[in-house]
Amino acid sequence: MNEDFITLTIEKQKNIALIAHDNKKAELIAWCEEHKEILKKHFLCGTGTTARMITDQTGLPVKGYNSGPLGGDQQIGAKIVEGKVDFVIFFSDPLTAQPHDPDVKALLRIAQVYDIPIANNRSSADFMIRSSLMDETYDRKVINFNKNIQERSKTL
Ligand code: PGA
Repeated sequence: MNEDFITLTIEKQKNIALIAHDNKKAELIAWCEEHKEILKKHFLCGTGTTARMITDQTGLPVKGYNSGPLGGDQQIGAKIVEGKVDFVIFFSDPLTAQPHDPDVKALLRIAQVYDIPIANNRSSADFMIRSSLMDETYDRKVINFNKNIQERSKTL
């Protein structure tokens, strides 16, 4: 309780969230097909449409949340907070305005707060998926929120 940071472990079998904006869905599906043998070993989830399309086109089981613009990115962010998602592949579209841009930013921010690996393009995803850490546990370092709350509640 006295430490400023706590350690949370990403297990060997990872909880991977898969998200792609519309112009990037084909690219993510092709990427999933290419890395199917590795992805098979982990738990997969994703925003609604992306999850459905990956399952339909690759056969990989992907638990679907709501569609991104309807809150799916926020649901995945909440799962990161709960420790139930610990790895994110998010092919976002840098050339098209998104109605849910604040949600996208919120997801990127919460992944940063919780020290979650997150890839936003194919090359980053390739480097991440081929990392030797995919077959190992990894300790991530997160702010000790209990201590933070205790201190803030006394000082504010
Ligand atoms: P979708 O959402 O998978 O439901 O299309 C992705 C997004 O736009 O964030």
